[in-house]
Amino acid sequence: MAAAMTVTRFAPSPTGMLHIGGARTALFSWLYARHRAGRFILRIEDTDRERSTAEAVGVILDGMQWLGLAADEGPYYQTQRFLRYREAVSALLASGLAYRCYCSKEELERMRAEQIARKEKPRYDGRCRDRAAPRAGIDPVVRFRNPLDGEVIVDDLVHGRVVFQNRELDDLIIARSDGTPTYNFCVVVDDMDMRITHVIRGDDHLNNTPRQINMLRALGGEPPAYAHLPMILGADGAKLSKRHGAVSVLQYREEGYLPEALLNYLARLGWSHGDQELFTLEELVAAFDIRDVNKSAAAFNPDKLLWVNQQHLMRAPLARLAPLLGAQLARLGIECRDDPLLEGVAALQRERARTMREMAEASRYFFLPRVELEEKAARKHLGPEGAAALARVRERLQSLPVWSAEPIHRALAELAAELGAGLGTVAQPLRVAVSGGAVSPPIDATVALIGRERVLDRIDRALEWTQRAGERGGQSP
Ligand code: GLU
Repeated sequence: MAAAMTVTRFAPSPTGMLHIGGARTALFSWLYARHRAGRFILRIEDTDRERSTAEAVGVILDGMQWLGLAADEGPYYQTQRFLRYREAVSALLASGLAYRCYCSKEELERMRAEQIARKEKPRYDGRCRDRAAPRAGIDPVVRFRNPLDGEVIVDDLVHGRVVFQNRELDDLIIARSDGTPTYNFCVVVDDMDMRITHVIRGDDHLNNTPRQINMLRALGGEPPAYAHLPMILGADGAKLSKRHGAVSVLQYREEGYLPEALLNYLARLGWSHGDQELFTLEELVAAFDIRDVNKSAAAFNPDKLLWVNQQHLMRAPLARLAPLLGAQLARLGIECRDDPLLEGVAALQRERARTMREMAEASRYFFLPRVELEEKAARKHLGPEGAAALARVRERLQSLPVWSAEPIHRALAELAAELGAGLGTVAQPLRVAVSGGAVSPPIDATVALIGRERVLDRIDRALEWTQRAGERGGQSP
């Protein structure tokens, strides 16, 4: 018989945002399916109606789309499958593998208090297992009849063999008194119906697994393979939280990270392939195996994420970066979405920007009609000598026959040689004049991109600044 096709799923509860941990779980499930030429299913676990919101669903779907983790099936919504869960509850009741429990709240509380007093672990003691008669005035819940003895073995693909004793597991409620199914039961029915072969999820769910396996078997299903992923910690060793930047993945989009960079970084959180740090998505798909995931928790390192992002900025097609840069500039109030300069600016800036936002922040002067001169840079480079050099630069640039980086560079180098000075003597005043500050990409390319007319205009304004400064200086006592 041919081996079954690999089917994985990502099953988020829409009670909050899609954060770093969820995104990594989704990525590992997606990668594993892709690696095995299988299928990847998206399932929204929205049975907790009080805590689930349509907004959170939207954020999850947007996040998945931005990350490029396309599902082959779904999204399925558990709230649309209640009939099916009801049917599964009935089947278990009919076969005696589930039973109605008529215990009142008070009775359960008493049971619990007595167990604690006897220093026992509080658990449902199964007193309704064999109670046949309904009790007046009580709408029963339905409990799964968990096996009383024996063990459940989970051969976890990450954690190895984990053995649970059935006597440690009590009879889980699978339907509430209003008939709605409970979380663990829905997961089981879905994993069975959707023919999931590999359940990849956070290891906070490991303790649910033996119960889920028992219920799955009771329903006539075969348990899938399980892989429980270790937590992601902050750099301080505490569980990742907002304080560490455990924000929605969409915030990374806003801050100008590339999705492939975030995926690359997330893949390396707890998984490795030799000492390779940088991967394209195709390389990840080819190299990824769930068995290579590390058992111990991984630490989230924002600086490394920035580094990985920059590496991906360096590799990305400029045609992709241009609209991202335009969008980031728009956030800064600079509308230049179709500006033909965007690609060229991205080409110049990506060596020094770690995110598209940083790139935009450092690129304002390419797009603004005029620049503000930074006081400190102007004082340093636009004094009388700087201005004199700048005036000579202006002459050269004005008469340059071809306006491109190389002749601009040559003109500046020749002028520096004539002045018997280093290139910086002519380049720095020019840099301050065109960019407003003392930092920019190589000046020849920068000047070439900004264009002759604007450059000459900016030089004039810089020279005026020097003149005004001189006048001010002259007036002061
Ligand atoms: N809905 C669960 C969660 O968001 C995941 C359940 C599972 O993957 O089995 O944590």
